[in-house]
Amino acid sequence: MAKKIVIVGGVAGGASAAARLRRLDETAEIIIFERGGFISFANCGLPYYIGEVIQERAKLMVQTPESMKARFNLDVRIYSDVVKIDPEQKKVTVNSKDRGVYEEEYDALILSPGAKPLKPPIPGIDSRFIFTLRNIPDTDRIKSYVEQEGIRSAIVIGGGYIGVEMAENLRHRGLEVSLVEAAPHILAPFDSEMVAFAEKELEDNDVRLFLNDGVQSFREEEKGISVVLQSGREVHADLIILAIGVKPDTDFLKDSGIALGTRGHIVVDETMQTNRESVYAVGDAVEIKDYVLGSQGAIPLAGPANKQGRIAADRICGLSSTYKGTQGTAIIKMFNLTGASTGSNERTLARLNIPYRAVYVHPSSHATYYPGAKPIALKLLFNDEGLILGAQAFGQEGVDKRIDVIATVLRLKGTVHDLAELELTYAPPFSSAKDPVNMAGYLAQNVLSGQTEVVHLKDIDTLDPEKQVLLDVRTQAEYDQGHIGGALHIPVDELRSRMMELDPDKEIYAYCAVGLRGYIASRILNQNGYKVKNLTGGYRSYSMASYKPDK
Ligand code: FAD
Repeated sequence: MAKKIVIVGGVAGGASAAARLRRLDETAEIIIFERGGFISFANCGLPYYIGEVIQERAKLMVQTPESMKARFNLDVRIYSDVVKIDPEQKKVTVNSKDRGVYEEEYDALILSPGAKPLKPPIPGIDSRFIFTLRNIPDTDRIKSYVEQEGIRSAIVIGGGYIGVEMAENLRHRGLEVSLVEAAPHILAPFDSEMVAFAEKELEDNDVRLFLNDGVQSFREEEKGISVVLQSGREVHADLIILAIGVKPDTDFLKDSGIALGTRGHIVVDETMQTNRESVYAVGDAVEIKDYVLGSQGAIPLAGPANKQGRIAADRICGLSSTYKGTQGTAIIKMFNLTGASTGSNERTLARLNIPYRAVYVHPSSHATYYPGAKPIALKLLFNDEGLILGAQAFGQEGVDKRIDVIATVLRLKGTVHDLAELELTYAPPFSSAKDPVNMAGYLAQNVLSGQTEVVHLKDIDTLDPEKQVLLDVRTQAEYDQGHIGGALHIPVDELRSRMMELDPDKEIYAYCAVGLRGYIASRILNQNGYKVKNLTGGYRSYSMASYKPDK
């Protein structure tokens, strides 16, 4: 007999599961229940439609119920809210706009209800001037409000991916934009010294940043709304976008017997099955294994949701696919800058007392003699065995490629030696004979083999002038433009003739612009009996880490 498969939620995970199910089983009866009026829409494109980068609303609709019926013979029921699940009887209760409340039985069930925006009970949060962004109706509401006569300013609360994308797109619409973030920095997946690139880019594009300052309350005014911050400061605007994170949309599962985690995420095994037989769950609503740390967590991203949907479908159709975890590979555009990351960051590794090493390189996106090369700031995290734990990069070009390559090696449990060995495409317009990924691998290898000892920015703060000396090995012109306070200056090309100026009893912390000349200096001095460490990332990392956004 043909199987009857019910899917709750018709967007990323749900639609992906449905299409795969049909490709595997032409006879199954497949019903998708979707609470809203749209299925398979481009959630990730919504901020760009508000910003008019994507101009046609229709382009957001990747599929419609009609197109899914024609191509995949799916029974898509929109405006159908699944309000209850009974895994004993294998049936769901649906509250439908057209058909009222009814029940539907299933042989297998896939839950992909996603996550909804957080709205904590802050005084004034229900104001009509506060918007959240999850779906097409939210998008329409924000866009039509922005287009009203006299709307000039917006405050984005929350510096995560959606908040930053909204800030950029509202600037595109000509609004004055402020961004408020309770944490010391925006974009939590990045470490603070790296994320300074993003904060500078936002400020350079007139997004006013309020960091380390949470919201105390909202107050509606005659025109617009004010936000009162924890510091007592007040910011006023015509509208507010609230983007402080999401929580799983799983309230309807509370009495179902389906196991939920402490924050309401559905607990699944590596086949995406819940604790109840024939009930699978995927996407933002599920708890996943962190691929690097092995711990349970939640990482709401479209790629994992799609992959998990496919795996649940495979399982229902008897295939043996498994989900091995999420590494959190993500990317964001901010005006002319791209930021991307994969795996763990230093903050998390340090908090969990996981031993790690970090190096920074600042290579160019392609050969510098070919026009248009742009610097890339790349941070690589790895352990004493060379296993890659994470990477982060910022730059105007080629960031996506480098992080994708490292993400691939990380997924294959590769090491920094693999990064050094990778043979990647090269011609001057595209890369260098030693790709930035190779460069990061070489530096990490040098650190592991003891060829170079590195110091980090935090070591500069705790430098003891009785025991250590900072040595700037850049040119006179570079030194004059800015240097780290207290540094001795001997350009690398003069080092062999001037090394007697250095105290052999002191440890030398050498630095250059990005780390390369510092490494050469450390090799010269080490071989002459000096004890030298090289500041990884050099003055460029130092100056970005010292960047303080204006308020
Ligand atoms: P969703 O795609 O949210 O789908 C869940 C659906 O289930 C919803 O339509 C909901 O109405 C429906 N539903 C919920 N409960 C019920 C119920 N009881 N009955 C019936 N229907 C129900 N990720 C990236 O990787 N890159 C990006 O650039 C990116 N940008 C984003 C931008 C925005 C503005 C947003 C909101 C998200 C973005 N994401 C991005 C996240 C990505 O969209 C999600 O990770 C992905 O959509 C999750 O898929 P899902 O199937 O779990 O949930």
